Amino acid sequence: KKPNAIYLPVRDNSQGENLGSLDTWEAWKTTINHYKTKQWYCQPIIDGEISEGVQLQPIYPSYQLDRTLGYYSGASIEQIKQALSIAEYSLPQWRNSPLSQRCDMLRTYAQTLQNNKAELTCLLMYEAGKTLRDALNEIREAIDFCYYYANLAEQSLHAETLVSVTGEKNTLSYQGQGTFLCISPWNFPLAIFTGQIAAALVCGNTVIAKPASVTSLIAFRATELWYTAGLPGYALQLLPFQRGEQAEAVLKDSRIAGVAFTGSTQTAMALQQQLASRGDGAISKLIAETGGINAMIADSTALPEQVILDVIQSAFNSAGQRCSALRVLYVQEDIAEQIERRLVGAMDTLVIGSPEKLNTDIGPVINKAAMDRLFDHIELCRAQNKLIHELPLQEQHNQGYFVPPTLIKLHSIDELPDEVFGPVLHIIRYAREDIDRVINEINRSGYGLTFGIHSRNDHFINKVIAGIEAGNIYINRDQVGAIVGSQPFGGIGLSGTGPKAGGPNYLKSFSREMTVSRNT
Ligand code: GLU
Repeated sequence: KKPNAIYLPVRDNSQGENLGSLDTWEAWKTTINHYKTKQWYCQPIIDGEISEGVQLQPIYPSYQLDRTLGYYSGASIEQIKQALSIAEYSLPQWRNSPLSQRCDMLRTYAQTLQNNKAELTCLLMYEAGKTLRDALNEIREAIDFCYYYANLAEQSLHAETLVSVTGEKNTLSYQGQGTFLCISPWNFPLAIFTGQIAAALVCGNTVIAKPASVTSLIAFRATELWYTAGLPGYALQLLPFQRGEQAEAVLKDSRIAGVAFTGSTQTAMALQQQLASRGDGAISKLIAETGGINAMIADSTALPEQVILDVIQSAFNSAGQRCSALRVLYVQEDIAEQIERRLVGAMDTLVIGSPEKLNTDIGPVINKAAMDRLFDHIELCRAQNKLIHELPLQEQHNQGYFVPPTLIKLHSIDELPDEVFGPVLHIIRYAREDIDRVINEINRSGYGLTFGIHSRNDHFINKVIAGIEAGNIYINRDQVGAIVGSQPFGGIGLSGTGPKAGGPNYLKSFSREMTVSRNT
């Protein structure tokens, strides 16, 4: 088991005070106590002004269920219209601002996130149920997105002079497409929220951000920090809303030039339909990052110790609430028994508990609905005699939406209803001669996000890579936690449209191209 060390220095300047660093237990306790009773809120932010919203609702954490973290209020139709007008009106100003200025803006924002790390860590822990390590990693990722997109924009978005055959001067330049609607998920409420916005802004788009309602307090604070960093209010506006009238009002509006979305495949499809059915004929781009039924294959040459570590990390880290998480492990039958035995042993060492405790491995899932869905699946599998192992829950787990890491045996991936978004791993034994059928079976789901291989046989690895349909393939390692710039992330098929976040092709999708041929 890896030690629960905290590495990153944290300073909190949000209240003009220094909460020290999180590298000692004392410092961590001070930080926690400081934010223990704080109430946050989320309201629409229009043109940099916080506005009174509608449908006021309390926000509760996913553990310590008796605490109210703060309040959410959504945007009214009027406010949506107002925000869209401002985004449209100010577009030329932002689009024509110097690229270097927009890149610097992202770098300043990264620094602002760093300066506010203590508060963001607590928010991620309380509102999203992230363990300390996950929270710190998420802030790191948000910062990485900002620096990466700033550097990438400088390298790839400047105007290019092209060859001329007739003597005129030809240039190709990149500009913001218009107003981008960024719809972000609750499982990475800071990193993905920041990544989408940073990409859209740096390309010269004005942005309307629509956060996941269950993690809107984080989104609100992260948006405020953009203004602290110096972003003009018109360039980014926050519109919290839920499905229904409000969503329709935004999506039907032809001033939305593009939508960046991360969430479920079903919602991505619904968005596509809504955008396509707009009466005014405007064509909007949809950049969607969606789910997956991610598999890993371990053959008989794999190193069992490494398989166990990587499977535990891939399936149960973040309580399995990553779209990259491992859902189905295929093990060659010759080693299946010992892998299963070791896996059960390793699962038994996992600590389920409050994210505030430093030794917690598995925090709560996001809300009651998510917990109920997971338990329904586990109970169905139990009734069908498919359950291999499940960690026991204790009394203290009643204080949160905890789902125990669970191991389930299947004969085929087809037995899964859909993506099971939590700490539930399914295991399937396969015979060596069946590998082609296994590859086919995995591809048949239509998803193609992450995929793992554990093997020491290069021929086998190459054969599987050639056959498998997946956006991110990981060999002899875990399959979560793609690193910005090194492992551009995103799926194919039902798992997303591309381009990959944190990759060299991402920004051009947020840009429009203009060719100017000047004859002198
Ligand atoms: N990029 C994350 C990873 O590699 C997953 C993102 C998501 O869950 O949406 O684990």
